[in-house]
Amino acid sequence: MTNENKDNPYQMALKQLDETAKIINLDKGIHKILAKPKRVLTVSLPVKMDDGSVEVFTGFRSQHNDARGPFKGGIRYHPQVTIEEVMALSMWMTWKCAIVGIPLGGGKGGIICDPKKMSNGELERLTRRYAYAISDIIGPYTDIPAPDVYTGGQEMAWIMDTYSTLKGNYDQPGVITGKPIPIGGSLGRNEATGRGLSFTVREASKRQNISMKDATVVVQGFGNAGQFAAQLVEEQGAKIIAVSDTQAAIINKNGFSANELIKYKKENNTIKGFPGSSEISNDELLTTECTILIPAALENQITSENASRIKTKIIAEAANGPTTPEADQILYNNGVLVIPDVLANSGGVTVSYFEWLQNLRREYWKEEEVNDRLDEIMTRAFKEVYDAHLKYNTNMRTASIALAVNRVAEAIQLKGIWP
Ligand code: NAD
Repeated sequence: MTNENKDNPYQMALKQLDETAKIINLDKGIHKILAKPKRVLTVSLPVKMDDGSVEVFTGFRSQHNDARGPFKGGIRYHPQVTIEEVMALSMWMTWKCAIVGIPLGGGKGGIICDPKKMSNGELERLTRRYAYAISDIIGPYTDIPAPDVYTGGQEMAWIMDTYSTLKGNYDQPGVITGKPIPIGGSLGRNEATGRGLSFTVREASKRQNISMKDATVVVQGFGNAGQFAAQLVEEQGAKIIAVSDTQAAIINKNGFSANELIKYKKENNTIKGFPGSSEISNDELLTTECTILIPAALENQITSENASRIKTKIIAEAANGPTTPEADQILYNNGVLVIPDVLANSGGVTVSYFEWLQNLRREYWKEEEVNDRLDEIMTRAFKEVYDAHLKYNTNMRTASIALAVNRVAEAIQLKGIWP
């Protein structure tokens, strides 16, 4: 572990809040309120395993702040889930929803488990037990979970069914988002993160006087977010010159076709060996000269070790936390515009919000409508963060958190503290 990530995530989130508080001169009382989640529930989850034994898992749900609307945030299944991680992620969700200006607060859940070692039946029993255990604090108007690491549409379907059965036995799709389409999922949700990111890239290039037709793009991590981001920036005229996944990093200075790459990845389960490409190292990929760099894999990829060698104009963070604070400072000094994760990848939560709205109204939108509304929200959010970074004379990450904390603080102040 490097010095750059020695803090636990909650301490990192608190440090970020403290620094933002100074910049915006945050009221001390509000600062104290925001430093703690409103509620953190720990649940013990007994599950009958396939071999007849009983395992007891631990799960969490952290509800950070709901001053602007019901708590919202994913549920992750991972052996390394901790209460501090879930609390930090719930605070970041509060900021993310406030940045895009949707009327939701921040929440996050998790279960300490290794889903890759569990059968489908065991996962269903664990998921339903968790849904039962948190059923009194979630609901369509209180806390709306969603998928996160190693959870997806199937888990959301089980949670919705368990909750609906427990609470009066009628269908309540609005209790959760990220559902499969046949039970109330939204069109466009799958592409939403990559699409939202492509809108922020478009806006950033306008501010930097970059023509997308002349832009070259490097994507680290060719998964869900990376593939759609690549496809959609290519549609704007940019050329994808290097991509990577866990097995290889590849380059072709003449440009790849994003669609061909996606097809190849589907067939071969990797981009390694794509015709016409040469293999490079991960370090070479990140430091390839390009106009736009999209980290879409893991956290802590851009560090003080490589930041000064990065030769790009814009970094659009599809991944959560790919840049360390030290690297952020180096990039800012070098004039690289970083579109931070809380803004760049917020297309996902925005379309989750659309899914929830559709569920509450019992109506369904065409994909075109979802995409148009997403464009409107992302474009506005980008402008507000960009203007704030000029106003506070700081990087885009600090500016976005400052904007968010101001919005949440205003809501708390207006409502007052009662009882
Ligand atoms: P995914 O699993 O579909 O894709 C991740 C990709 O990264 C895979 O292709 C994998 O091969 C690659 N990868 C993993 N380790 C790598 C490494 N060391 N070097 C290069 N490539 C590597 O996941 P995803 O849903 O696309 O999520 C990617 C990131 O985006 C995560 O940080 C996630 O939290 C974030 N994110 C995703 C969404 C979403 O809606 N999918 C929303 C917000 C944030």
